[in-house]
Amino acid sequence: MKFNTIHKIKFNTAHGAYSVVTETEYQHSMITPSGYETEIMLSYFGKDNIHVGNVKSNKTLSQKQFRMFPEGNTIYLNLVFPKKNKTELRLYVSNNAGYKTKSGDVWFVFVKDGEIWIGSMPEPDWSDLSLMKQDDSDEFYQRIVNDSDEIRRQKLKERDVYARDPRIAERRMNLAGFKCEFEPEHQLFVSRFSCRPYLEAHHLIPIGLQGDFKKSLDTVNNVFCLCPNCHRAVHHAKADDARKILCKLAKSRAGLLDSFSLTVPDLLCLYAVEETM
Ligand SMILES: [Zn+2]
Ligand SMILES: [Zn+2]
Repeated sequence: MKFNTIHKIKFNTAHGAYSVVTETEYQHSMITPSGYETEIMLSYFGKDNIHVGNVKSNKTLSQKQFRMFPEGNTIYLNLVFPKKNKTELRLYVSNNAGYKTKSGDVWFVFVKDGEIWIGSMPEPDWSDLSLMKQDDSDEFYQRIVNDSDEIRRQKLKERDVYARDPRIAERRMNLAGFKCEFEPEHQLFVSRFSCRPYLEAHHLIPIGLQGDFKKSLDTVNNVFCLCPNCHRAVHHAKADDARKILCKLAKSRAGLLDSFSLTVPDLLCLYAVEETM
């Protein structure tokens, strides 16, 4: 399968594909790349540079150079078209060659900076990559955003290492005139701590992806203030409803996604609410 947006961000590539290693592939120490994986390998090596027939009949041409994820060491694996009609590739894996995948693991291939990379990981680790984990500190953050100035100052002192600056949220709330940025008509209650309309601050490009971007995600531009209902909906509502909010927010702030080289479909993928065709 083709890499989705999160994979592309995590592996820093535009072209990648992955599959689960089957029991037969594991037993025979060879992988039959699927459509997208084949596409990537053919466009990288060139169809004519791949040996047709068994490895022994042309060891030099069969051997292909890869970089191994994540260390980046160079390895050589045999890759051939076993049959004359060149419809199916075969990739040989082995401990000797430095690449042996387990049955049920996810193996992947991608091209980055003009080189082809290969790797594998257990399926649960792979699934974790695309999972937008609920942020543990979110509850704390929303509370501090709605605290009185004095308490906020104190809490900030207690926790100086903080991924998200509540002052950013504060600036955003002022800019939004203390209204829900999805729908300004939404009713808000007044916080008894800040004595202002209660809003929650949401980072449209999830702060959990900060490690994958050089530019800060904790900016006035990336923060949206939402009523509690809209905020929960972004994280928990069924795809149609979450999509509606995400699209409106993204479009209301021109240039935000662009500045991170993301599109609206990319954004929807980050929340796992992309439109399925
Ligand atoms: Zn949020
Ligand atoms: Zn709202």
